[in-house]
Amino acid sequence: MDMERAARYVDALYERDELLERVEERIRALGMPDISVPKGTGRLLTLLAGLSGAKRALEIGTLGGYSAICIARGLPEDGHLTTLELNPDFARAARDHFRMAGLEAKVTVRVGDARASLAELAEEGERFGFVFMDADKFNYPHYLEAALRIAEPGCLIVADNILTRGRVFDPAQDTPSTAALREFNRSVARDPRLQSVLLPAYDGLAILRVKA
Ligand code: SAH
Ligand code: MG
Repeated sequence: MDMERAARYVDALYERDELLERVEERIRALGMPDISVPKGTGRLLTLLAGLSGAKRALEIGTLGGYSAICIARGLPEDGHLTTLELNPDFARAARDHFRMAGLEAKVTVRVGDARASLAELAEEGERFGFVFMDADKFNYPHYLEAALRIAEPGCLIVADNILTRGRVFDPAQDTPSTAALREFNRSVARDPRLQSVLLPAYDGLAILRVKA
């Protein structure tokens, strides 16, 4: 089955989402990378953020805020999303998009290296019921351990791009980020702290639940 065609088929069944389309257009107009999550992953994030029951959610890797908007939409009225971004220009664009979405009170962007921001959040005693990992793949093993330190019991953790368009299972690929992703996938599949599914949908999604 042609998965790109399948995604186009299901996307066409939904009503247009004018806000997300405007966000995508603005990301392109600003010359930012075209690597926001696909529409279907966005819908899944809204669904899972809601199902998690989380009041506080965390995202690692904001870019233009497309996936953050999807997560924030799934949270309750009094819910809050903290999203971490290294690039201050991307963070500024994302804040504009949260305003466009009427979500400026519900989403906070923290600028800086996510490794440092995660350490600060742990220090501040913050706890999260939903985590979405989508920043540099080389740090996924580190991000998982950092997320587990600030996860509430039962926390849902979603990680994007775990198949990197097939590079992860192509033995000819041996970059450090591919090696890190292989380690991440191998270890989460067997981690006794987690219930998990490694889903070969879109660019590969890991859905993990922290056992209580
Ligand atoms: N989640 C976004 C896409 C994120 S793209 C969406 O789907 O809408 C990955 C983002 O991670 C980029 O914006 C990049 O600047 C950021 N990033 C990369 N390395 C990082 C790091 N060490 N700390 C924080 N952010 C990082
Ligand atoms: Mg991604």
